[in-house]
Amino acid sequence: MAVLVLDKRKKPLMPCTERRARLLLTRKRAIVHRRYPFTIRLKDREDGRTQPLRLKIDPGSKTTGLALVREDANGGQHVLWLAELEHRGSVIRGRLIARRAFRRRRRAQLRYRPARFDNRRRTDDHLAPSLRHRVDTAMSWIGRLRRLAPVTGMSQGLVRFDTQAIQNPEITGVEYQQGALAGYEVREYLLEKWSRQCAYCGAKDVPLEVDHIHPKSRGGSDRVSNLTLACHECKQVKDNRKVDEFLANRPDRMATILAKAKAPLHDAAAINSTRWALYNRLKDTGLPIETGSGGRTKYNRSQLNIPKTHCLDAACVGELKTLLGWDAPVLNIKAAGRGSYQRTRLTQHGFPRGCLTRSKRHFGFQTGDLVKAAVPSGKKVGIHLGPVAVRKSGSFNIQTLHGVVQGIGHRNCALIQRADGYGYAIKPKIAERKDAGTGAVSGRRAIPPRHKCPGSPARKR
Ligand SMILES: [Zn+2]
Repeated sequence: MAVLVLDKRKKPLMPCTERRARLLLTRKRAIVHRRYPFTIRLKDREDGRTQPLRLKIDPGSKTTGLALVREDANGGQHVLWLAELEHRGSVIRGRLIARRAFRRRRRAQLRYRPARFDNRRRTDDHLAPSLRHRVDTAMSWIGRLRRLAPVTGMSQGLVRFDTQAIQNPEITGVEYQQGALAGYEVREYLLEKWSRQCAYCGAKDVPLEVDHIHPKSRGGSDRVSNLTLACHECKQVKDNRKVDEFLANRPDRMATILAKAKAPLHDAAAINSTRWALYNRLKDTGLPIETGSGGRTKYNRSQLNIPKTHCLDAACVGELKTLLGWDAPVLNIKAAGRGSYQRTRLTQHGFPRGCLTRSKRHFGFQTGDLVKAAVPSGKKVGIHLGPVAVRKSGSFNIQTLHGVVQGIGHRNCALIQRADGYGYAIKPKIAERKDAGTGAVSGRRAIPPRHKCPGSPARKR
């Protein structure tokens, strides 16, 4: 992974290699500016030549992929830095639901109150808090990266599929005309439309094949409204029969399929609502923004034989001829929140119980700060590195890579990086991961223990 570099006025320079950063640090020409993402600051340099640097983003519902690539003159791209940003939309949703239930419970027990559910005003671009959080955290990281690297352009995976490419294959470029890319768009569209399952038997998580509802050999068209998805078995059994012959004894299933085939995918925009919200925020940055569809990303990825991960998806967004250096370690960033603003805990019925300290900061430390503790003697002797959980007593806990170390005195702790609401971990290169397969890999992988904010010391109910 490249190391981000700032000049002595904190202006971003081109990222450098790890080796170069090590040399600069040992020769005392640079200092560590930030631990995560690892950034150094040169002590003796002001300004420098930069090359075109593109920040590529693939927004996802749970995880957003980020990639910094250097652009060559001939259209090739070189991956410098990869990260995956894990969102906490489901946590936010759960907390809001709990809060609503608590409030409802408290209010309802008083006396009769008239309904107040429809007295809120909403703007047109309203997003639910859990969705807005996705846009906000992505924008926050884009802002950070722009302060740490000289980003000159951005690419965003905007939609899952390009509907224009499906309906009008003559839009742009050779691939569209030859139908290879259009095929990817159609497939993504069909997957969304048919909910990623076999239309005939409802099988999920199996390889799906595109099937002509009215068979091509009997005059059926290639229009999207004549296409569906079938598992291998169903497709074999159906053969070149028409759907009314194949499903003669299952009329209700046939009616569903025919109705669904005709209906366009109306909620395509709703699916992509956060992507558009992010796009509108990106436009405000003033940088040139390239957009790509999910079909295009998948096409690039399979053309260049790159495995599927969130950050590599980001690196494959948009127009791409070659991609070098993509097998790099990945910074895993997990949104952990900044703790609770409430200074009291709630019972399971939503009533206040006990109280927390007024201030979140004790002895200059706050829960989530990354600290290094050097304990000179006693049972906890040694060096402990990780995020801290503070107590008013000054006896802290540190979440190290090897587990929690309890009861570390605040005098032994030295601050490395302030809590910023994120937990960090480095995932090794794909080739060095334990469960690295041979072909295309997908799905979740085991990652080493992360530095995460452990939250304030847990209290039992
Ligand atoms: Zn089937």
